Amino acid sequence: MIHKEDPASIQSYLEDTSNLTTGRTEGVFIPETPEELAGLLREAAALKRRYTLSGNGTGTTGARIPMGGHVISMERLKAVGEPRQTAPGHALMRVQGGAMLEEVQKRAEAAGWFYPPDPTEKLCFIGSTISNNSSGARSFRYGPTREHVESITIVLPQGDILELRRGEHPAGPDGTFRLELPLAGTLEFRLPRYRMPETTKHNAGYYSREGMDLLDLFIGSEGTLGAIVEAELRLIPLPERIISAIIYFPEEEGLLGFTEALRKKEGRARPRALEYFDPNALAFLRRRHPDTPEGTKGAIFLELETTAGDEDGDLERLFALIEEHGGLEEDSWIALDREEQDRMREFRHSLPLQVNEWLRTQKESKVSTDMAVPPARFRELLETYRSACERLGFVYIIFGHIGDAHVHLNILPRNHEEFVAAKELYLEFIGKVLELGGTLSAEHGIGKLKSPYLEAMYGREGLREMAALKRALDPALVLNIGNMIPAEYLENQQR
Ligand SMILES: Cc1cc2nc3c(=O)[nH]c(=O)nc-3n(C[C@H](O)[C@H](O)[C@H](O)COP(=O)(O)OP(=O)(O)OC[C@H]3O[C@@H](n4cnc5c(N)ncnc54)[C@H](O)[C@@H]3O)c2cc1C
Repeated sequence: MIHKEDPASIQSYLEDTSNLTTGRTEGVFIPETPEELAGLLREAAALKRRYTLSGNGTGTTGARIPMGGHVISMERLKAVGEPRQTAPGHALMRVQGGAMLEEVQKRAEAAGWFYPPDPTEKLCFIGSTISNNSSGARSFRYGPTREHVESITIVLPQGDILELRRGEHPAGPDGTFRLELPLAGTLEFRLPRYRMPETTKHNAGYYSREGMDLLDLFIGSEGTLGAIVEAELRLIPLPERIISAIIYFPEEEGLLGFTEALRKKEGRARPRALEYFDPNALAFLRRRHPDTPEGTKGAIFLELETTAGDEDGDLERLFALIEEHGGLEEDSWIALDREEQDRMREFRHSLPLQVNEWLRTQKESKVSTDMAVPPARFRELLETYRSACERLGFVYIIFGHIGDAHVHLNILPRNHEEFVAAKELYLEFIGKVLELGGTLSAEHGIGKLKSPYLEAMYGREGLREMAALKRALDPALVLNIGNMIPAEYLENQQR
């Protein structure tokens, strides 16, 4: 096992994409086998050590940044197996927790299979995507990572290695689980009794549903309940052909109507991705792509899976829908081959690059949201974001996963006063989103940055129940402390 402690080689482990700068660590361990990782956790309580698990640092919430203690990096546990067909149209693929998502997707594709989860950032580790239940554009049709995990091997905070296979550990009628483990002995714990929101994407706090699988508790637990060292991923056949399109709308009503019509589609008729660009986002994109039409009220990007035989019919139906909702057919950009689709991908991905370039000319960092609401309340969310930003004269863009009623608002402050005002507004937005039945985080998770706000969503009782669950699995509080559950709930059992 590699151990690093000189400041230069551990600096990168104190960062992710959150701009959090207060991280510190005594050193970084890089295990080369799950057993080495288990050994570290087994001795943690006796050595009074705390560990923070580290993926590839693309997280946005400071979750992998240690606030003292040691880091365990997953980077050497990166093996990727070959897809193994288990039934017609189904395959499984065994990977280690530190395998890179991009590599996993390529390996699946090379064998004619498809792993649907696709956070925009592909340079992340599979273990992190499972522990964060990551999702992305294609979640509109395929759901988040959770739905594509067949089994996980997890190292629990006291050092036990546990394999969990979907369907084998359902919760008891009162939401309890019981495990008999070689090191930890008998563990009994209960799911929090809060109700999760009725959003189609949700990634805030422990997953809790009646009769759910134990596997689903670990998925999305942000590394607070164990380290995912291995997983079996579910693969489906690689789609034969894809229709990609960017459709511009002269009126917002048409754009929203088009979106709502597509939300009702099921199965093959449902696009796998349905994304939004507001006029301000299009203005940023126009800096690099001057042919982006001007004067529109926004654009929708979609991806629809099809076959050579169905492609013409699917295109006809798509154009009919665009016409019905007043989309600008002439200006729409349709990409049917890989090369054109790559150009379209470059177009979409140049948005964060343009925003970052703009931010480099300013002194303040952006304030961004990752909240979602039930689809029926989406119009209210959009109106709330927009009217507040217009009232305060902010530079802002709204873009993202409109299919799931989950758009990202980025406020780009031009000075410190605007930054402070944007932070205050963020608090107002939390209140509004919760009032609309939404979630504090749809995909990026809670980590350290949003931990102070989780109480607004679940109340004190919800956080007490989360803390009790955490303490049952991690009684010496050694793993990923500071993520998700505010420290006072873990340390003060009376709170
Ligand atoms: C430009 C950009 C676009 C993004 N787009 C999306 C998107 O579309 N959808 C989306 O969901 N996210 C997105 N993200 C967020 C991010 O990519 C994901 O959260 C990703 O899962 C983080 O992976 P990582 O390996 O970088 O993890 P890190 O940032 O290193 O760690 C994230 C968390 O995972 C924990 N962890 C790491 N490995 C393990 C393990 N093996 N077992 C248990 N816990 C572990 C860490 O302790 C930490 O809490 C985006 C980020 C960027 C920068």
